[in-house]
Amino acid sequence: MILTINQDLKDFNTFGVSALADYAYEILDEQDLLDLISSGLENPLIIGGGSNILLTQSNISNPVILNRIEGISVIEENDTEVIVSVGSGVNWHEFVLWTVKNNYSGLENLSLIPGNVGAAPIQNIGAYGVEQEKSFVNLTAFDLSTGESKLFTHEDCAFGYRDSVFKRRAKGKYCITRVSYKLSKIFKPILQYKDVVNRVAELGETPTMELVSDVIIDIRRNKLPYPEEIGNAGSFFKNPIVASYKLNELQKRFPDIVAYPVGENHYKLAAAWLIDQCGFKGSRYGNVGSYKNQALVIVNYGGATGEEIVNYSEKVQATVLEKFNVEIEPEVNFY
Ligand code: FAD
Ligand code: NAP
Repeated sequence: MILTINQDLKDFNTFGVSALADYAYEILDEQDLLDLISSGLENPLIIGGGSNILLTQSNISNPVILNRIEGISVIEENDTEVIVSVGSGVNWHEFVLWTVKNNYSGLENLSLIPGNVGAAPIQNIGAYGVEQEKSFVNLTAFDLSTGESKLFTHEDCAFGYRDSVFKRRAKGKYCITRVSYKLSKIFKPILQYKDVVNRVAELGETPTMELVSDVIIDIRRNKLPYPEEIGNAGSFFKNPIVASYKLNELQKRFPDIVAYPVGENHYKLAAAWLIDQCGFKGSRYGNVGSYKNQALVIVNYGGATGEEIVNYSEKVQATVLEKFNVEIEPEVNFY
């Protein structure tokens, strides 16, 4: 375990916001975590890749845990499937590349999502028609007050759209140490999103797992800002889900509104479209703005404080509410 006192967290969150942590503990394995818990640690902030957090205070007195628990291992295998157990500190994209290299299918549509494996179940990461829950088997987490280890099944995690029990009643109570996924040795491409369908068609090749992963990496590299260059945490807001009657009302006033069916009688609205219609796409207020290629991504042009980003996000929320009477909720976790 490595302890740093007065650690600036600027390089530990992809928004690139400065915040001084009184105590930052880098944990390398489960024993480091248990030692910390038994030392009486209170309300720690766990940071993986820091790509889904917004630090709103200039000083963080709660202990910060920087999770670096590594390791990928196959724990079960048959002719068609494999179950892998992954350390929560493993970089998500490195893990996905490992699955693609080994021809284990299921996560290729989730290529190039920043962050670590431990945070993937927390918001049930998703992209291009796939959510991690589709391959998820279970996870191990340690209770931060007792040190007790608990196995969470798929059902225990209560996965939803960018949601899980860890964003609700288990929020802040556990440190996830390992996650298991069941992957298939038989590849069936999931080609649903226009960008992916078009790009695969342009290439004119039979889609392999590697090709789908490469296409998605390429699309994302061209559309999204690189956090190393422009601070951001990906989509700042979740796409709102509305009842069909609400969509019907909206369609009368906004015939071009972008919506996708979700289950029966509900629709997901593209929050990016709503924000764009309010004129925020590519806008800049001081050090903060919405990215020019994707209005849902709030960016730090350099030197923004967490407070400035919160203020800007509230302005976006209020304008969308006023124009469409639709509430958009942050996806990013505020601290
Ligand atoms: P962090 O930001 O470090 O933490 C996120 C939350 O999880 C915090 O509450 C933290 O305390 C908690 N946490 C982290 N690790 C643990 C642990 N081991 N145990 C308990 N709690 C923990 N998300 C998507 O769903 N789909 C996308 O396509 C996508 N694209 C993105 C693109 C960009 C450019 C960026 C910057 C972000 C994107 N995201 C996307 C958001 C983000 O990458 C994911 O949510 C990712 O899973 C966050 O991982 P992290 O390790 O960085 O989490
Ligand atoms: P996009 O393809 O321009 O689509 C805009 C929105 O419409 C997305 O939010 C997506 O919802 C929805 N959508 C598009 N096609 C759909 C379909 N066939 N079925 C259902 N919903 C559809 O989106 P983008 O911004 O370029 O992002 C591409 C993918 O990467 C999306 O899945 C997005 O969630 C993911 N992504 C996520 C983050 C993040 O931080 N959470 C950041 C960047 C990209 P969904 O968002 O529900 O998929």
